[in-house]
Amino acid sequence: MNISGKIFDIKKYAIHDGPGIRTTVFLKGCPLTCGWCHNPEGLWSAPKIIYEFNRCIGCGDCIEACREAAISATPSGMSTDRHRCKGCGLCVDACPGGARELTERTVTVDQLVEIIKQDILFYDESGGGVTFSGGEPLLQADFLIEVLKACGLCEIHRIVDTSGYANRSIIEEVARQTDLFLFDLKLIDSERHKQFTGVPNQTILDNLVFLHNLEADVTVRIPLIPGINDDPENLSQICGFLLPLKGIRDVHILPYHDYQKNKYSKLGMEYTADEIVVPPPERVSNSLKQFEEKGFQVSIGG
Ligand code: SF4
Ligand code: SF4
Repeated sequence: MNISGKIFDIKKYAIHDGPGIRTTVFLKGCPLTCGWCHNPEGLWSAPKIIYEFNRCIGCGDCIEACREAAISATPSGMSTDRHRCKGCGLCVDACPGGARELTERTVTVDQLVEIIKQDILFYDESGGGVTFSGGEPLLQADFLIEVLKACGLCEIHRIVDTSGYANRSIIEEVARQTDLFLFDLKLIDSERHKQFTGVPNQTILDNLVFLHNLEADVTVRIPLIPGINDDPENLSQICGFLLPLKGIRDVHILPYHDYQKNKYSKLGMEYTADEIVVPPPERVSNSLKQFEEKGFQVSIGG
């Protein structure tokens, strides 16, 4: 089967998305709406084109190139109507200033696997492999499963980096084709989870227990977001939830950073998490200690 999927980036030689040297594939679409999201271009609702005003020389070639009449000149630069834009990329090819970039492309299973296979030597020498991230990779489950199967046939180590928000049948099918899950946990209080991510967390917690009972290899990742989930009470609740899951002892704490703000402005999207500050080092180390004291193996970052 050579079905296709939508991706928004492929990062080669990645060293923070699991062990060794990896290729990270970012799949488009996410059911969550976290305001601090580091990859806003991964949301279905994101524009398909990134535009950089500073690189634009105002030549108008993009307007000529667009068959959908989606681009117009405005006093603040070239504006793209996201409802008209089909993501064909013609304006990107036509742009002499490199001011336009496509954030979404369609690839078949075979095309993607060929790209992943290019670096098999690096994976073998470093203990690396491929990581599927997003967005939420489980949202394109049929495509993901076919790519995972093909990578498995090539003996490439496979990681799925997920929010865990998916149907049980998808989790079960993906688990058969995955060597390691990087599983995000943010908040144990479901109301607060819904408030800050747009969805309640029962499905996520149930899926984590399910993966544990399947004896899947799972590392829990906790994005540390000041004012939202970095309070000792929430971290203590996460410890309490994980402690009975004796097969899960690896925890990665991912401190919030704000490098992504620039992406929002280039996409023409509003950044709604401006009030969040980068956590001070002592807050990060206190969080680490809280988990270490309970017997978890904790690292900061990927
Ligand atoms: S990607 Fe295609 S449809 Fe979208 S603005 Fe560019 S030329 Fe027009
Ligand atoms: S083609 Fe590129 S440089 Fe020319 S107006 Fe469009 S965005 Fe600007």
